[in-house]
Amino acid sequence: MSPELRRIPSVDQLLHLPAATALIESFGRPMTLKALRETLSALRTSLMQGQTVEITPEVIFAHSQTLLNTWFTPSLRPVINATGVVLHTNLGRAPLSQSARQAIFHIAQGYCNLEYNLDKGERGTRNSHVTQLLTQLTNAEDALVVNNNAAAVLLTLSALAARRKVLIARSQLIEIGGGFRIPEVMRQSKAHLLEVGTTNRTRAEDYENALREFGAAMILHAHHSNFRIVGFTEEPTLSALAELAHRHQIPLVDDIGSGALVDTARYGLAHEPTVQESLAAGADLVCFSGDKLLGGPQAGIIVGKKYLLEKIKRHPLARAVRADKVTLAALSATLLHYLKGDWEQAIPIWQMIAQSEKVLRERAIRWQTILGAGSVIPGYSTVGGGSLPGEVLPTHLLSLSVKSPTQALKWLRTRPTPIIARIENDQIMLDPRTVLLEQERTLLDELHPLVIQEGLQQV
Ligand SMILES: *Cc1c(COP(=O)(O)O)cnc(C)c1O
Repeated sequence: MSPELRRIPSVDQLLHLPAATALIESFGRPMTLKALRETLSALRTSLMQGQTVEITPEVIFAHSQTLLNTWFTPSLRPVINATGVVLHTNLGRAPLSQSARQAIFHIAQGYCNLEYNLDKGERGTRNSHVTQLLTQLTNAEDALVVNNNAAAVLLTLSALAARRKVLIARSQLIEIGGGFRIPEVMRQSKAHLLEVGTTNRTRAEDYENALREFGAAMILHAHHSNFRIVGFTEEPTLSALAELAHRHQIPLVDDIGSGALVDTARYGLAHEPTVQESLAAGADLVCFSGDKLLGGPQAGIIVGKKYLLEKIKRHPLARAVRADKVTLAALSATLLHYLKGDWEQAIPIWQMIAQSEKVLRERAIRWQTILGAGSVIPGYSTVGGGSLPGEVLPTHLLSLSVKSPTQALKWLRTRPTPIIARIENDQIMLDPRTVLLEQERTLLDELHPLVIQEGLQQV
């Protein structure tokens, strides 16, 4: 062994030092040992490569501590969404209301009556905790909550149309992000896809003719969600489809995706179909997400006719995609806001959507003043989450002219609380709309070094 290598202490020697005790205290013995071993082995490698390295207990412990810190930092952590995309699927979609967060905390803490009927002292159903809220809000006969809307659609097709035909317009064979494609979900459910019409135009007769010729178990209607077709287009109304389905004694299932309970047109956006409208138009079942325009936790919700939901609940897949207690707690707290009528004050995504241009401008100007840098310019936020394609909300952005926007963006992403921003016209754009008020302080603290480093000025 070279004399250099002999200078490296053994793990045993290191373990006798107080610094080791401190690490073991914080991180436990096995991981501390692992960190020390990895550090020593890295030192050895460097020495053998002829590099000059400092070999002191301080250096070894500092390196081990860094390793342990990384290993013990959860990979999943909060970020600041300065993109202006309200329902950003990659950033976890909807932030939850305070009461939804409290409900999660409350229920997660101990036991609960998840599947226990307190009145009768016997087994109950987990779904019962949200059924009443959902039926009251939507006027549906019954409801079921599952893991997400993809699961809701898959389960519905599997339970009601396996090995039978499902009619759908060609214009509705959609793909949502993350690999949800209607034809593939259909295949997975073992339902047979029967496309009608053309890419741009489908008429009621197309459905009628297919029903007469081939028969079917269901008509599926899917919301376009993330795209728009314009020009020479046609699709029958939902009520026309309902009339047709009912004349042929089959159900109409509407996958509306986003699942708004309130009219988006109130906020200067296009009108997104609501759950209530879809049911009122005659859909027998409506499937939607919990974490899109509902503003709640990830969930898939099916509302509609009781006799159909009974069948769906009995399907084995229902057990595989059921919602957990934490989801149900957050979902019912979210739904209560709609019942009470305070969604705009209480549910973060509605707060964000409803924020006035004036307030957004004031916030951007405040950021500019505090940082003493950048310029405030008008721009646009979007709703995202597979809803309202092409629709924008006017906002005000803080724009920063940095030397390398890509590098700065990367630097922002690697802060202790990562900041996600966007580049436009070679500048970094920060949209106050999606930055929670309680995150503003952190955002500005994190931005400060960038301002100094880049020598940015207010313009
Ligand atoms: C978003 C969406 C889905 C998938 O919902 P998840 O809750 O993300 O699983 C399915 N169908 C439509 C029409 C959608 O917009």
